[in-house]
Amino acid sequence: MPEIREKVDVCVVGAGHAGCEAALACARMGLETVIFTVSVDSIALMPCNPNIGGSSKGHLVRELDALGGEMGKVIDKTFIQSKMLNVSKGPAVHSLRAQADKAEYSRAMRKVLENQEHLTIKQAEVVSLLAEESADTNALYTKKILGVKTFTGAVYEAKAVILCTGTYLKARCLCGEAITHTGPNGLQAANFLTDSLQSLGIEMRRFKTGTPARMDRRSLDFSKMEEQFGDEKIVPFSFSTNPEDVQIEQASCWLTYTNEETHNIIRANLDRSPIYAGVIEGTGPRYCPSIEDKVVKFAEKERHQVFIEPEGLHTNEMYVGGMSSSLPEDVQLAMYRTVPGLEHCKIVRNAYAIEYDCMNPDQLYPTLEFKKIQGLFSAGQFNGSSGYEEAAAQGLIAGMNAALFIKGKEQIVLDRSQAYIGVLIDDLVTKENFEPYRMMTSRAEYRLLLRQDNADLRLRKIGYEAGLVTEEQYEAVCRKEQLIAREIERLQGIKVGANAEIQKFLEAQGSTGLKTAASLAELVSRPELSYEAIAGIDKDRPKLPDDVVEQININIKYDGYMKRQLKQVEQFKKIEKKKIPVEIDYDDIKNLRLEARQKLKKLKPLSVGQASRISGVSPADISVLLVYIESMRNR
Ligand SMILES: Cc1cc2nc3c(=O)[nH]c(=O)nc-3n(C[C@H](O)[C@H](O)[C@H](O)COP(=O)(O)OP(=O)(O)OC[C@H]3O[C@@H](n4cnc5c(N)ncnc54)[C@H](O)[C@@H]3O)c2cc1C
Repeated sequence: MPEIREKVDVCVVGAGHAGCEAALACARMGLETVIFTVSVDSIALMPCNPNIGGSSKGHLVRELDALGGEMGKVIDKTFIQSKMLNVSKGPAVHSLRAQADKAEYSRAMRKVLENQEHLTIKQAEVVSLLAEESADTNALYTKKILGVKTFTGAVYEAKAVILCTGTYLKARCLCGEAITHTGPNGLQAANFLTDSLQSLGIEMRRFKTGTPARMDRRSLDFSKMEEQFGDEKIVPFSFSTNPEDVQIEQASCWLTYTNEETHNIIRANLDRSPIYAGVIEGTGPRYCPSIEDKVVKFAEKERHQVFIEPEGLHTNEMYVGGMSSSLPEDVQLAMYRTVPGLEHCKIVRNAYAIEYDCMNPDQLYPTLEFKKIQGLFSAGQFNGSSGYEEAAAQGLIAGMNAALFIKGKEQIVLDRSQAYIGVLIDDLVTKENFEPYRMMTSRAEYRLLLRQDNADLRLRKIGYEAGLVTEEQYEAVCRKEQLIAREIERLQGIKVGANAEIQKFLEAQGSTGLKTAASLAELVSRPELSYEAIAGIDKDRPKLPDDVVEQININIKYDGYMKRQLKQVEQFKKIEKKKIPVEIDYDDIKNLRLEARQKLKKLKPLSVGQASRISGVSPADISVLLVYIESMRNR
């Protein structure tokens, strides 16, 4: 039988949120790329919640956009409701969240992929990776990737492969006693690739997650629920979307609650839940618990929130947020029907749990390349994370680095002081993760610097240098930076005296009078005032865009806190910059504790900073390591 053999630069296995970003990055960086999916109809599918962003995840999307990713642009075209979360708190934790029209989101991303030069979409199951022993005896890698093979026998030779297989490897879906060997939404699972990965020495693990039921809108009584509206003034996700283009008429979501009756039904049927009956082997995400978990772990709580969210504008399906479950269908129906507004609900799709194979991400460098296999990268749920945004962010970095690797250029590693994406990847590759990893603001040390509003100022340059951000987009951010700096300087330079006109103005604004002259910047820094509020005593100011004004306010008001955080970053960078020579022999370091030696040998950190974050490596071990590196240099 004649063999199909194709030669490309990059193979991306998976067209979920990670795969789409990875493939687009490679193709946009000029590399011939093929993206594989078990179904073309499921490109950028959202198998769970119908939204993009949210606390800390919104940060990831804005960072991804600043670097030249696609998720922010696609959700701006397909959202049906948008909200900036946590606005009553400081700007560090403001986070954008948009309800998506799922089908439209998927369609819009597919269109981008289909029209991308150098990118081919292929519906085929990849069953094995092709690799050879590394020829270079000094190399860090033991193997080199050569390509992939599909179920039908076609071979794709490639210089790099990116694994973005999500929740499909040996997937198993559970709804009580009913178990199917399928991926999400009844799609075909990918049952062969795991064995090939294991034969290459990749250590696999099994995780699980779950989703709630979808209900027919016509069977719900919204009069018993609280209506949830979107923001009046919508902020786009993408820095390149014109804010005027997103001021649309929005759909509503609804809030209702579980009650004692709901909880009693769940408790009485726990033995029929695959999780509690011990049928599920995989570990689930602690921060996205099923309703069974919530009722068991928070037994004292009288009620739990339930968000009813539309899955799109052209469907009657409603998502039941907060009530994911793997209980049997009859129990699901009984428990959902105890919730106000859902008494007569009709379930379109049952809730279910899904188990899948993924891998321990400590096998990766922070570039997302495998430590042992040159040219093999991975991203998304396959790396043990959970969430569309976490997947997309990793996908972009894996794609950029695969392309840079092929071009023989230095790869990109964002550190913890540069981006939430840096925190996400650093946590994945250096910390022990025993459950699906989800991004949270509390995971970032330098929250005040890593805001969603300044992602463009932090990261556009990196995207531009990689070739993913256009000249025009980069110039726009440079202009913005200049405008902010110039205006702050102007405000610092203008002094107003303690005269009657000023005192009267301040009093009218609810602010205390001046004892001596003060700069306009000092007035802006007062909590009760802002740049906009002092317009009346600053008549000659230039007309500035809203996003510039936002930066002026934040930079002036939080100046002291930010300076303090920048000092901490300086300390962090010092240790982060201390590279560990790749040829280091940890067995040769006397006084290193056994646990630290084992962890360092396994995880191969690239810097002393990274080593210091490995659990089981103590500050004393780091001192020993520093002395040894110094002695290596002297030798
Ligand atoms: C039931 C369910 C519930 C979830 N609940 C939550 C939740 O509560 N919170 C949360 O944050 N996240 C949840 N998620 C996870 C969320 O869907 C994922 O984090 C996100 O989709 C991961 O993106 P990804 O690109 O890594 O993988 P996916 O979106 O899963 O995409 C994987 C892609 O790989 C392709 N593929 C896989 N193997 C092969 C192969 N061998 N050959 C060719 N193609 C292949 C598939 O066709 C698909 O295109 C849930 C997922 C599911 C299925």
